[in-house]
Amino acid sequence: MSDVVDRSDPAGRAWVDRAVATVEADARRSADTHLLAYPLPPEWGIDLYLKDESTHPTGSLKHRLARSLFLYGLCSGQISEGSTVVEASSGSTAVSEAYFARMLGLPFVAVMPRSTSREKVALIEFHGGVCHFVDRASDMYDEARRLAAECGGHYLDQFTYAERATDWRGNNNIAESIFEQLSAERHPVPEWVVVGAGTGGTSATIGRYLRYRRHRTRLAVVDPENSAFFPGYEAGEPDRTTGTPSRIEGIGRPRVEPSFVPTIVDRMIRVPDAASLAAVRHLETTTGRRAGGSTGTNLWGAFSLVAEMLAAGRSGSVVTLLCDGGERYAHTYYSDAWVAAQGLDLAPHAATLRRFAETGRWEEAA
Ligand SMILES: *Cc1c(COP(=O)(O)O)cnc(C)c1O
Repeated sequence: MSDVVDRSDPAGRAWVDRAVATVEADARRSADTHLLAYPLPPEWGIDLYLKDESTHPTGSLKHRLARSLFLYGLCSGQISEGSTVVEASSGSTAVSEAYFARMLGLPFVAVMPRSTSREKVALIEFHGGVCHFVDRASDMYDEARRLAAECGGHYLDQFTYAERATDWRGNNNIAESIFEQLSAERHPVPEWVVVGAGTGGTSATIGRYLRYRRHRTRLAVVDPENSAFFPGYEAGEPDRTTGTPSRIEGIGRPRVEPSFVPTIVDRMIRVPDAASLAAVRHLETTTGRRAGGSTGTNLWGAFSLVAEMLAAGRSGSVVTLLCDGGERYAHTYYSDAWVAAQGLDLAPHAATLRRFAETGRWEEAA
């Protein structure tokens, strides 16, 4: 007699098959996001592109992450019929995950700080999710794990799994899409790709893809005030913490998240919060588009790199992301009263941006 433990479950597998097919069908109905050309003077010989992630069905680049985390959980046997799906998220990730949970008929609980904006809470509830509040942001992770264990559900854990849930070799990930969309441009291989880090998943996917496809493109990560990523990178200390939340939603974390892969980041640039907001307002002036604060951080970094290339007499291209639209931030980043109440002065940074647009020179306020 041999020892056998058989846990096969044909009905459970059939449910997972249908769930995977449902998520794949949603992807097939969705178009790729645009790679917008940002208007720089053509005589500079440098092209800047914005990958517009606001056009996903749930309005941000977190749509990609949510799809990947659900597929990863389903294909790892961690999400099954009736599983309650739990996440620690103060925003966009939970919005996108609530969308996928509803699509699969699964209950979804977002664990978030009590300070989360009304608009975000309303969006999660709109997609059928339940919001569960904690008083201290740092308690989110343990509370999400506890809730999932209590109900036999699954904690998606974006901050741990973002870097591995996405297929970095290709499969239409964000990096492959960018390179495909650049293929008919005059500079199809960019000098730089510039992104922020929240989970770190997007920078991990892009950095790995660049090496795998053997592109010479370098990866710059921009980081806001109060974030642990920049000091952790500078000091080579992955357990660095600041304990202070970021004002730029989606990026900058009080701890270096496990999904942040510093070994593939070529440069990190710390960006003042007032500069991020000045840049996102500058975007509206130059293109008529409103975006979230992290897009401003991206643009500030991208502009400074364009100026550096100009000063060095180099031509080429730079790519960054429009992470989400501005409609979620009408009462914050686009409100002069909110900006003043935060003690932020955008004027010197707006002047840096105007000077850059006119001359191509980068002169930051002291
Ligand atoms: C999550 C997020 C980012 C950063 O992406 P990661 O892949 O998590 O590092 C940037 N901007 C916004 C608006 C986000 O929600």
